[in-house]
Amino acid sequence: MTRFTDRVTVVTGAGSGLGRATARRLAAERALVAALDIDEAAAKDTAAQIEADHGTARAYACDVSDWASVEPAVARVANDLGRPQLLVNCAGIGKFVRSEEETPESWSRIVGVNLTGTFLMCRAVLPHLLGGGGVIVNVASNAGLMGQPYSAAYCASKGGVVNLTRALAVEYRARGVRVNAIAPGGMNTPMISTFGFPEGAKTEDFAAITSPIGYAEPEEQAGLIAFIASDEGRYMIGQIVSMDGGITCG
Ligand code: NAP
Repeated sequence: MTRFTDRVTVVTGAGSGLGRATARRLAAERALVAALDIDEAAAKDTAAQIEADHGTARAYACDVSDWASVEPAVARVANDLGRPQLLVNCAGIGKFVRSEEETPESWSRIVGVNLTGTFLMCRAVLPHLLGGGGVIVNVASNAGLMGQPYSAAYCASKGGVVNLTRALAVEYRARGVRVNAIAPGGMNTPMISTFGFPEGAKTEDFAAITSPIGYAEPEEQAGLIAFIASDEGRYMIGQIVSMDGGITCG
């Protein structure tokens, strides 16, 4: 399939996990990929993998939580590759911690990257999308749709991404910009191993937020993103699409 031929596509968090899988999937469908990550070397690795597969990609250092980093990064993408037509906000962080032990700094960082970072990227790319149409796909989480223990900042930030997505969707739906989000459950990426369930936490708590069929592979979620972002998803606006192994179904 080549659903994204020559579409300039910005992917954040592209140095790892879902961002890398999404960058590679969209490039395989002939998108021109701007791989953004706070870890520039990791973004370069992703771009090199895409080039090795005969795709087109460039790497950019970008801290999505910092407007002073976001604005010039998006300007460079537009200058190098042309008008961005698709934005996929994959950058994210999180950890498990008892809420009575969460530090204000850690709270601010998680909300700053996951929620404010998603907004800042939308803010920077929207003027380009409005100049001829485009699509945004945000990455929420099952943790944005249900209570999850030991992750108040993460849940709050992802719940914020859910309603940020809906707010942008209604604001721009008549102006040629579609905004949706996916809400993955557990995914087999480096992030999952760094969350670290708190010592002494009940195994039932962990079981309640884990699918009985295990984790998804990031490539599976990347396939969902590709569908939503493609013209096949033309009529999908303001949706939060769960692919979570049934965690949120009842
Ligand atoms: P990952 O493998 O850790 O990848 C996240 C990438 O984002 C990393 O390369 C990370 O760089 C980068 N990043 C962190 N902070 C950034 C910043 N301020 N600016 C730019 N890039 C930044 O995690 P993942 O599992 O692929 O997660 C991708 C998205 O899926 C996240 O939004 C996450 O919340 C969401 N999600 C994940 C799961 C899961 O189970 N894995 C489930 C539901 C939703 P560093 O490695 O240098 O920090």
